[in-house]
Amino acid sequence: MLMKVRQKIIVVGAGIGGLTTAALLAKRGYEVIVYDLAIVAGGCASTFKRRGFTFDVGATQVAGLESGGIHDRIFKELELEHPEATYCDPACAVFLPNENQPINVWRDRQKWKLERQRQFPNSEPFWNFLEDLFWQSWRFQSRDPILPPRNIWDAWQLLKALRIDTLATVPYTFSTVGDALRGFGLASDKRLRTFLDLQLKLYSQVNAEETALLYAATALAVSQAPLGLFHLNGSMQVLSDRLIESIERDGGKILMQHEVTAIRGERKRKKVKGKNLKTGEAWSDGADHVVANVTVNNFVTLLGDEAPKGYANRVANLKPASVAFVVYLGVVRAAIPDNCPPHLQFLEAGDKPHSLFISVSKEGDGRAPAGKATIIASEFTDAAVWYGDEDYQELKKRFTERAIAQLSEYFYLNEQTIIHVEAATPQTFARYTGRDRGIVGGVGMRVSTFGPFGFANRTPLKNIWLVGDSTHPGEGTAGVSYSAMTVVRQIESA
Ligand SMILES: Cc1cc2nc3c(=O)[nH]c(=O)nc-3n(C[C@H](O)[C@H](O)[C@H](O)COP(=O)(O)OP(=O)(O)OC[C@H]3O[C@@H](n4cnc5c(N)ncnc54)[C@H](O)[C@@H]3O)c2cc1C
Repeated sequence: MLMKVRQKIIVVGAGIGGLTTAALLAKRGYEVIVYDLAIVAGGCASTFKRRGFTFDVGATQVAGLESGGIHDRIFKELELEHPEATYCDPACAVFLPNENQPINVWRDRQKWKLERQRQFPNSEPFWNFLEDLFWQSWRFQSRDPILPPRNIWDAWQLLKALRIDTLATVPYTFSTVGDALRGFGLASDKRLRTFLDLQLKLYSQVNAEETALLYAATALAVSQAPLGLFHLNGSMQVLSDRLIESIERDGGKILMQHEVTAIRGERKRKKVKGKNLKTGEAWSDGADHVVANVTVNNFVTLLGDEAPKGYANRVANLKPASVAFVVYLGVVRAAIPDNCPPHLQFLEAGDKPHSLFISVSKEGDGRAPAGKATIIASEFTDAAVWYGDEDYQELKKRFTERAIAQLSEYFYLNEQTIIHVEAATPQTFARYTGRDRGIVGGVGMRVSTFGPFGFANRTPLKNIWLVGDSTHPGEGTAGVSYSAMTVVRQIESA
């Protein structure tokens, strides 16, 4: 009998996408080595510690931990213990401008239905339509299609996942949420549109008018049972820790502070070149496959002259991606109102309102000492502002003060209650996660770039793969885990 030669895989980046790919491949018998430029693994889903507080850098809530969800499936395959987690219910409390009662996005379907009927009278046919689209798309997604397909094997996986009810979604492939609102006579419902803009921007990076309808149907339904959003006990780092444990158990290696500076793929044996950030030494390594857990913009840079022209042009012509500004507060628990939900969204009144997405730690969830709490507030901001002429430190101070002032309308924040303040700008994300200009979340989910029209895991270069939120944007750690699972199946079939 012919034995298959054990193949070697290099993974560039130890974000959740890279670690999941590495863990699954190591478990399936591949020789795996992960290189990451940072000191701590986890990328946008890692943490940092200050004065007894543990702050989640970016991601604070997790989808896909329910039974059959993508994280659950991966933990089962890796034979890892499930991390302890609690449901977020409501998943989010959304405060619209000049309103002091929130719209609560409840986990229970019926409760959420009653809430939205009360909040947005006459919109139920629109929500029911979205729900039908969601279930059709969800059933399709759970049969593991490969989108977009790039060869016959991919196309076969896609075909196998299709059913009659999937075909019912096809006519909406080119529609946006804006089109659906017009179709249901809701185009002038400003309150509903504002709510949708706020919620969708978190996932799709763009407003309701531009968000692809089929994507929105899923994004707006992940908060409800049997799915749901979870808060991990300990911190977000638990996710990376579990994956690292699995990689090392199965003989894989992870080298931190090893920046990859080039990926070369023209020969059969793929090559990466890099720099050891501790010693300054140059190094290189070769493998059968290279999996890049970086943004598509960074990917093109790493390929250099080898980047196919059409691919590089497409990336260069993408609409500007999102950048984020985040404020991390360590506070005494008295700063938090009673019954404060784990996640909130605030929108200011005004011509150019700006919004904050807020995550609050729970007593005993591992993020703060007893009697204290963390508040993390993030907002999307314009990259041009951060890379323009304004003084960087002044800009950072102005953004921090504005965020704290906005938070003070809900939380009791003053010199006595605030213990620690820190902020991350696009420059911070660029420095600590290597992401081009600090862009976060992936490519915007417009019709031109979602699902069937997005970036594929299979790149134009044979045996060089892209994993992470450029191929599965907007769905956070769940999306990048799905992209990892896809790449692993593709490598196995190669
Ligand atoms: C403010 C904010 C809030 C968010 N909130 C949520 C949330 O609540 N829930 C959720 O699910 N998601 C959330 N997300 C999104 C989520 O964090 C990301 O989508 C996900 O973590 C991205 O994972 P990734 O593996 O694709 O990439 P990354 O996390 O960016 O990981 C990439 C890794 O590659 C390394 N790397 C990059 N370049 C190189 C190189 N040249 N050489 C070596 N190593 C390199 C980096 O150091 C990093 O460790 C949020 C993101 C942000 C920024």
